Amino acid sequence: MKKYVYLFNEGSAKMKHLLGGKGANLAEMTKLNIPVPYGFTITTEACVYYINHKKYPKGFKKQVLDSMNFLEKKMKQEFGNKNNPMLVSVRSGARQSMPGMMETVLNVGLTNDTIVGLMNKTQNGRFAYDSYRRLITMYADVVLDKSNGLNCNVRKKLELFLLNLKAKHNIDNDYQLTHKQLKEICEKYKNIVFKNTKMSFPDNPEEQLWGSIEAVFHSWNGDRAKHYRKIEKIPDNWGTAVNVQVMVFGNMNKNSATGVAFTRNPSTGENKFFGEWLPNAQGEDVVAGIRTPYTIGGKQKNSLECKMPSIYKKLFQIQKKLEKHYKDMQDIEFTVENQKLWILQTRKGKRNGIASIKIALDLQKNKTIDIKTMLNRIHANHINELLHPTINAKDEKQHTPIAWGLPAGPGAATGQVVFDADVAEKMCKRGFSVVLVRDETSPEDVRGMFVSKAILTSRGGMTSHAALVARGWGKCCIVGAQKININYQKKSFSINNTTYNEMDWLTLNGSTGAVYDKQFQLIKPLLKKNKDLNQLIKLCNRFNNMLVRTNADQPKDVLQAKFLGAKGIGLCRTEHMFFHSKRIHEIRKMIISNNDTFRQKVISKLLNFQKKDFYQILKNMSPHPVTIRLLDPPLHEFLPHEEKHIRLISKDLNVSVSDVKKRIENLKELNPMLGHRGCRLGITLPAITQMQATAIFEAAFKLKREKIKTKPEIMIPFISTEKEFVHQKNLIKNVAHNIKKKYNISINYSIGTMIELPRACFIADKIAEHADFISFGTNDLTQTTFGFSRDDIGSFLPYYIKNNILTNDPFSSIDTQGVGELIKIAVQKARKVNPNIKIGICGEHGGDSNSIKFFNDLNFDYISCSPYRIPIAYLAVAQNNC
Ligand code: PEP
Ligand code: MG
Repeated sequence: MKKYVYLFNEGSAKMKHLLGGKGANLAEMTKLNIPVPYGFTITTEACVYYINHKKYPKGFKKQVLDSMNFLEKKMKQEFGNKNNPMLVSVRSGARQSMPGMMETVLNVGLTNDTIVGLMNKTQNGRFAYDSYRRLITMYADVVLDKSNGLNCNVRKKLELFLLNLKAKHNIDNDYQLTHKQLKEICEKYKNIVFKNTKMSFPDNPEEQLWGSIEAVFHSWNGDRAKHYRKIEKIPDNWGTAVNVQVMVFGNMNKNSATGVAFTRNPSTGENKFFGEWLPNAQGEDVVAGIRTPYTIGGKQKNSLECKMPSIYKKLFQIQKKLEKHYKDMQDIEFTVENQKLWILQTRKGKRNGIASIKIALDLQKNKTIDIKTMLNRIHANHINELLHPTINAKDEKQHTPIAWGLPAGPGAATGQVVFDADVAEKMCKRGFSVVLVRDETSPEDVRGMFVSKAILTSRGGMTSHAALVARGWGKCCIVGAQKININYQKKSFSINNTTYNEMDWLTLNGSTGAVYDKQFQLIKPLLKKNKDLNQLIKLCNRFNNMLVRTNADQPKDVLQAKFLGAKGIGLCRTEHMFFHSKRIHEIRKMIISNNDTFRQKVISKLLNFQKKDFYQILKNMSPHPVTIRLLDPPLHEFLPHEEKHIRLISKDLNVSVSDVKKRIENLKELNPMLGHRGCRLGITLPAITQMQATAIFEAAFKLKREKIKTKPEIMIPFISTEKEFVHQKNLIKNVAHNIKKKYNISINYSIGTMIELPRACFIADKIAEHADFISFGTNDLTQTTFGFSRDDIGSFLPYYIKNNILTNDPFSSIDTQGVGELIKIAVQKARKVNPNIKIGICGEHGGDSNSIKFFNDLNFDYISCSPYRIPIAYLAVAQNNC
């Protein structure tokens, strides 16, 4: 018979696929002799079977009951026994952590009978009824409501009842409720549950157990879990494991407590034990942010270190042992029951990008992990987080924060206030930047949190739901800003006597916890000062066998890229230099005029502009090569639309307005992306190519005289025939020849082309006979291979992704099956006739980690990406070669 249930002492960390992350780690901790309450794990296979067949697999029930017997023997207690009851928790636990996305039911086994036993055993009626109240709430919400698909919001109704009762009795906190009050609440709760779900809360421990197991299975396909899986790219067919574990109580009495700890600081990566705890509380109190917890370490009077020093000492030793064993930063949940420490969970701690990089580097430095492991623990997104915006310190000093909270998520963000996650989603769809402001967040809010620029909560600590989720995404987040008083009905919050309304602007400094009531101009970070990033790039360079260049066309971007490690420019889009207001008028005149002499005059003007452009760009990138692409916009991008611009042209050209309009009409294209662009422009208007080539050579000549080393590479765009290339090449060579004659000096340059059309791939051998280099323009190549317009794909791509017709946006990550095959053909053909031909890529895929690995495997000489993607490119190449 297949095994669907594993006792904790039967599993190990290697069995994640079957036992889920939580189950596998509980088993591993049991093996390590760490104090874990007894329990067992129901496998992910049982869940998948149940979901597919709507029933339990054969033999499953017996395995669960046998395991329950084992727990009873170990605990010397009995499930459902009214004198000596055993209670269990039933928790989800997928292969990959999905914090708060699936369900948990605690205190399972409490009934009208067993509660008496619990009261007698603990001599604490208040505690027993508090546990009962929690069970009724969780069971009603998770099992009766959600698992049955009722969506009647019974939890909210129970909470509202409690809120009103507390208000009536002037009670601020749950722990102030008396035994008698809690007993009455439990009875009232049962009525509310029945009224809303039309089902009774079961007074039978076994029914509670099976109901909870089934509900956890069902929660794998709950809306929240499905949405989270989509964001995190977790496959739908994994299923969740279910952990059934003997309950230990952090809310039993004053000598009990609960907490969450990290072996290192998850925000900064600092190697310092870090965490939060609450006395006399259950785990959900810390995570849900209902009470603001105290810190674990330190000399403050409420720290665990001061209040329970011997427990702190044990916990400290255990966290050291766990980090050493797992060779990574751990996130640990613990409970103290009547002065005995229990570890309920350990898992890889979620951390932001800054912390990820620091922790990986530190662990590699002290030889806990090797360099390969270190590199593979860092992702492109972590580096992206280092590039988060910040507030200008000078600006910030001039303003006083309206509130302070805990800095839970990195960087700064600015946006307009909304109070509801659904509203956040709607507003973002309409193009607004929003900050989601809430007392606390719950997994229900995940979609709204994801689209918001930042999250601000008035309650909760660094391990609250909002903090955990935001940190995982690297999103700006401040929690526990207690001065904030939210009135959801009025859609406003107040701080002292000032009221702020929905759509007011806020700026959050997620690194300090400061909240401002204004919109700040945010600045990108200065990477120069980041020691960890520099160290990482240094280590990446040990494995780099492909150059990283940049796409840049502004002198200051060139400097930034060079600072970030660019070894040349792979694409300088010259059309970006023509959109300047002074120049666009000239180029419009050139296109619209049909008088050659006049055209020549305009071109001379443009020549002067271009000479200066190229001079500065070549100089800033010296001594590295600069690939300058000749003009490649669809003509319509230059044509004037506004009457005032048309009139100005008519005046300068000395032709009537209606003639100018006619000419514009004639130049308009139905399919401009496939129209009069790229080399087609240079062939029909050779003066443009000649002007650009002249500007490049003149700039290079000037730099040569100044003894500044340069290497211009002239790139001809949008080639589909050999003759197009040869035509343009001859024009350029002629210009070079004339310049050489004029100055009696030769320039070191090369001529190549972009491969961005399928036909160019098939004739790459013919092109390679004449070209010094080829660079794949994968944006256009993707567009023309799929026949997807790169500007219009947004209208159907989300549908394609949602319905799994495409798994990725092919304009972000290279389509290896189709576009990739064409690239392979082209590379093979080009190298066959010209083994030394230089090969690069300059489409957007040059900044995407997976695509970079694909190009690296084809032995490209370089990839080219936007300046801020350069560190990511270095990491991807190193990961591919380490
Ligand atoms: C490309 O097509 O990949 C490319 C880099 O050129 P552009 O994006 O300018 O068309
Ligand atoms: Mg292109």
